[in-house]
Amino acid sequence: MKEELYTIPVNEAIEQDGECLLCTLNKKLESDILNYILGPSYMEEDIRGETDKIGFCREHYRQMYAAQNRLGVALMIDTHLKNLRSDLKSLLDGDKTSSGRRRGLFKKSSEVPESAEYLHNIESSCYACNRMKLRMNSYIDTFFYLWKREQEFRGKVLNSKGFCISHLRMLIDEARKRLSDDKYAEFIKSVSEIQLKNLEELEKDIDWFIQKFDYRFKDEPWKNSKDALPRAILKLSGLEVDE
Ligand SMILES: [Zn+2]
Ligand SMILES: [Zn+2]
Repeated sequence: MKEELYTIPVNEAIEQDGECLLCTLNKKLESDILNYILGPSYMEEDIRGETDKIGFCREHYRQMYAAQNRLGVALMIDTHLKNLRSDLKSLLDGDKTSSGRRRGLFKKSSEVPESAEYLHNIESSCYACNRMKLRMNSYIDTFFYLWKREQEFRGKVLNSKGFCISHLRMLIDEARKRLSDDKYAEFIKSVSEIQLKNLEELEKDIDWFIQKFDYRFKDEPWKNSKDALPRAILKLSGLEVDE
């Protein structure tokens, strides 16, 4: 079964006991994908074809540039630029002769010009993000596969710190689609318990972090508050900031 393929990474991620299991998986996934793209071995041709066509998003260009394999990035950008220029030329040529409006029986004249639509697609598509989204779907499948079948996994989830806001939303959505009414109610009950408990803990840690700015408490121990701010930011936004 497909889900079984991914039980190892999911089980490994839950062992890390982070603020969000799915963020932990996402981070590993992102670094694997970028290592592969920038690694010493050549990418398979069909993958290279895709990066040539759609390129990357702002965040992934930033990470690739920071990874210091400037030659690798330049080679990829070179072929992507060539593709972009040739596609754009033919679309803009088309727009020149049709006043930017699409021809065709059912097309409204107010429609977005093809060149703008193409640019919008380039702007909003990213090879790394696409790959991550696909794999994340398999991880969600695996999550529910294990949740339904393995008591041990369920126990680990119930002892975890819950999820970030965006992944909590994703799990609630998916649970509704995948579980029967009874099982869904049971899932929500369990998840709300861990999630609310974790948010309360986090709030306490942030409160103590704030107190520590008061000179009267400056010699008191940090308790769990030293990294409370990055943990809270991850919980709220999925963003990992350096401590
Ligand atoms: Zn998350
Ligand atoms: Zn991206």
